[in-house]
Amino acid sequence: MYSDVTEVSSEVVLRPRLEGVNVGDWIGFKHIMYLAEEAFRVHGVRDKSRVVFMNAKPTLFTAPYYIPALERVIKSRGMEVQLGQELVALRPDAREAVFRDVKTGTEQVMRYDMIHVTPPLGPPDFVRTGPLANADGWVEVDKFSLQHVRFPEVFGLGDASNLPTSKTGAAIRKQAPVVVENLLALRAGQPLTTQYDGYTSCPVVTGRGKLIMAEFNYAKEPVETFPVDQRAERFSMYALKAYMLPRLYWHGMLRGRA
Ligand SMILES: Cc1cc2nc3c(=O)[nH]c(=O)nc-3n(C[C@H](O)[C@H](O)[C@H](O)COP(=O)(O)OP(=O)(O)OC[C@H]3O[C@@H](n4cnc5c(N)ncnc54)[C@H](O)[C@@H]3O)c2cc1C
Repeated sequence: MYSDVTEVSSEVVLRPRLEGVNVGDWIGFKHIMYLAEEAFRVHGVRDKSRVVFMNAKPTLFTAPYYIPALERVIKSRGMEVQLGQELVALRPDAREAVFRDVKTGTEQVMRYDMIHVTPPLGPPDFVRTGPLANADGWVEVDKFSLQHVRFPEVFGLGDASNLPTSKTGAAIRKQAPVVVENLLALRAGQPLTTQYDGYTSCPVVTGRGKLIMAEFNYAKEPVETFPVDQRAERFSMYALKAYMLPRLYWHGMLRGRA
């Protein structure tokens, strides 16, 4: 599969032009870059490959605290990053991708043997076009109470909401109890005092058995769960994501226990 690889753009990420909206901080898409680079090495074609991560966003990661660690991993493995580059055209027959610099408008053509593209992400149409949506199409809730700004009896959470944090299941795990508490308070005629702080978690798989566990809030400050430096690549964090979090999801979150 990789034997004729001469140049590889392992990753191309398009982002929706919606300020404050991040879907999983694009972690799933960065995984591909790290895992592809590792696969090329394992299959003996890394020296014939060029691995480039291109993203329309201006920074590598939302929370600055984790950027140096991610940059170290990228540099140590000879990968390249080009930020502020928006994919505007694909020419599959010629195996060419056209990127436009979001600041200067200059276009560059990248040749590829393999490309992984993430299309713009957004709310489903029935949300985007419905009465609960804001101008960008997301369910418009207060970012702390999660109560809808125009319909007090409506609360919103999850990917379809306009919450200005990276959209993840981990974030929803913290949002759900806030919705429950505030819904009960509303029904009891009490003030809504429970607040969501924007907590989210982005487990960045940097290779087989290696993971950087980023956790942060609205202020993009680290809010880490474990008494270790979570910026380091760790097997323990990989094991947590691979083996523990699925159980937490199925047996804890979905049953309202965690
Ligand atoms: C590649 C990738 C990797 C990720 N990795 C992580 C991770 O490691 N950790 C983490 O915490 N999060 C991760 N996430 C994010 C996480 O998956 C989402 O934040 C989470 O699933 C959002 O849940 P949700 O219920 O809000 O929306 P969804 O899970 O999108 O649920 C919405 C549901 O609505 C349904 N639906 C849509 N339209 C209609 C309709 N018209 N009628 C009825 N139903 C409809 C859909 O089918 C879907 O089932 C990742 C996401 C991606 C894409």
